[in-house]
Amino acid sequence: MKIAFIGLGNMGGGMAANLVKAGHEVRAFDLAAEALARAQDSGCAVFTSVREAVQGAEAVVSMLPNGAIVEQVYTADVIGHAPTTALLIDCSTIDVATARRVEEAARGAGYAMVDAPVSGGIAAANAGTLTFMAGGEAADFARAEPILALMGKAVIHAGASGAGQAAKICNNMILGATMIATCEAFNLAEKLGLDLQTFFDISSKASGQSWSMTAYCPVPGVGPQSPADGGYQGGFAAALMLKDLKLAMEAAASAGAKVPMGARAEELYEAYVGAGSGGTDFSGIIRSLDDLAR
Ligand code: NAD
Repeated sequence: MKIAFIGLGNMGGGMAANLVKAGHEVRAFDLAAEALARAQDSGCAVFTSVREAVQGAEAVVSMLPNGAIVEQVYTADVIGHAPTTALLIDCSTIDVATARRVEEAARGAGYAMVDAPVSGGIAAANAGTLTFMAGGEAADFARAEPILALMGKAVIHAGASGAGQAAKICNNMILGATMIATCEAFNLAEKLGLDLQTFFDISSKASGQSWSMTAYCPVPGVGPQSPADGGYQGGFAAALMLKDLKLAMEAAASAGAKVPMGARAEELYEAYVGAGSGGTDFSGIIRSLDDLAR
């Protein structure tokens, strides 16, 4: 299949490489020369514009930084330039309203489109083990599923247009809040004189457990290997967590949902990122919550 791939950064680079490995002809475009060079090394054909890349494509996949860019790329260069038979799949994390608007514009011009954001970081993108949550009509999801399955371990139909984005931000609002709650609990446990591995052994098997604790413990040397063990480098950047929390707050405001814990998590990540830690893993926020050395 001829698949145009737009946005081959940290995530898109590995995803496109997995489509190549599965035998597809991947037509790549990115504004960054280094991203295109990496795409070429992994077997993609590279182009100098979105319009060129989408020519003759049977599917278009995008993995871009934000909603404004996604809207610009689709309305200016994909819609009206890719064949109308091409299935459009946006995997970026963006706001629900923009996702719905772009999908409506695409449908109006005769295209099928799904929003399919991902859970899982750069390592999962490289390994082809992402989780996709997709929004769109059932028939369009059925066309997208086999393509997404080549890049992920799970592909779930979340509902109508925009539902993938909705599921993603609700999930990450839980993640942001549980990470902070886990960090606070470990700090308190330490000040109360508990051995932190012992506290992990208890709480990870008790009602306080969550993914933030059992799979991604924010304390160095406690629990499974996680970014905490490498000085909070790599992993899921705090700046991206803040982006997702901001999207969740926007969505909550427009839907009239009360999210006081999510709002507090957003404030705390805003402060953490504002202090210059946006590039470090989001579990590093533990260092800003207390005076303990980590
Ligand atoms: P990134 O910045 O590494 O990659 C984005 C790429 O898009 C860059 O290479 C950039 O040059 C390119 N780009 C920007 N504008 C463009 C345009 N107009 N045309 C073509 N290319 C353009 O970001 P990333 O980490 O790969 O994240 C991509 C998306 O995936 C984001 O929406 C992010 O929220 C989401 N996401 C990221 C992670 C993660 O761990 N990095 C996890 C889940 C979801």
